[in-house]
Amino acid sequence: MRAVLALGSNLGDREWTLMSAAEALNEIGEVVGFSSFLENRPVGGPPQPDYLNAVLILDTQLEPTELLRVCQAIEKIFGRTRDVHWGPRTLDIDIISCDSQTFESETLTLPHPRASERRFVLAPWLEIDNQAHLPGKGAVADLLANLE
Ligand code: ADP
Ligand code: MG
Repeated sequence: MRAVLALGSNLGDREWTLMSAAEALNEIGEVVGFSSFLENRPVGGPPQPDYLNAVLILDTQLEPTELLRVCQAIEKIFGRTRDVHWGPRTLDIDIISCDSQTFESETLTLPHPRASERRFVLAPWLEIDNQAHLPGKGAVADLLANLE
């Protein structure tokens, strides 16, 4: 399965955290794409520092629900606490898509329901895959153009 992951950090050494998270993810598959890091204003939540965001493409044998568990475990390793909803975090890993699967459970929705509105997801994704496609929504290039 090919998974598209969105990484974000707005506490601590953000660059180091994103690099280290990519290394950790490479242990459960193969990282085949990793965008440059873009600085972004936080969306929603309380006032908080700017984010550093990136998109990573991972080929893995894991099922989507297993992948979510691993992503949450990696978030924990990097010191994430979930005290404030949408609050600052050392690391956030969102699963944007897993192949063209659609999936809905209490803990996982695929593709990620807010991905099509998030420039900080679409822009770095397009950077590493100019054919990128968000299942059910269309070409990432078009989605990004519509945000402008
Ligand atoms: P957010 O990423 O929206 O700022 P969290 O990282 O705290 O917030 O995630 C909240 C919950 O979203 C997680 O507990 C997870 O179960 C759920 N979730 C649903 N779909 C996804 C997805 N595609 N990727 C990551 N988390 C998801
Ligand atoms: Mg998240």
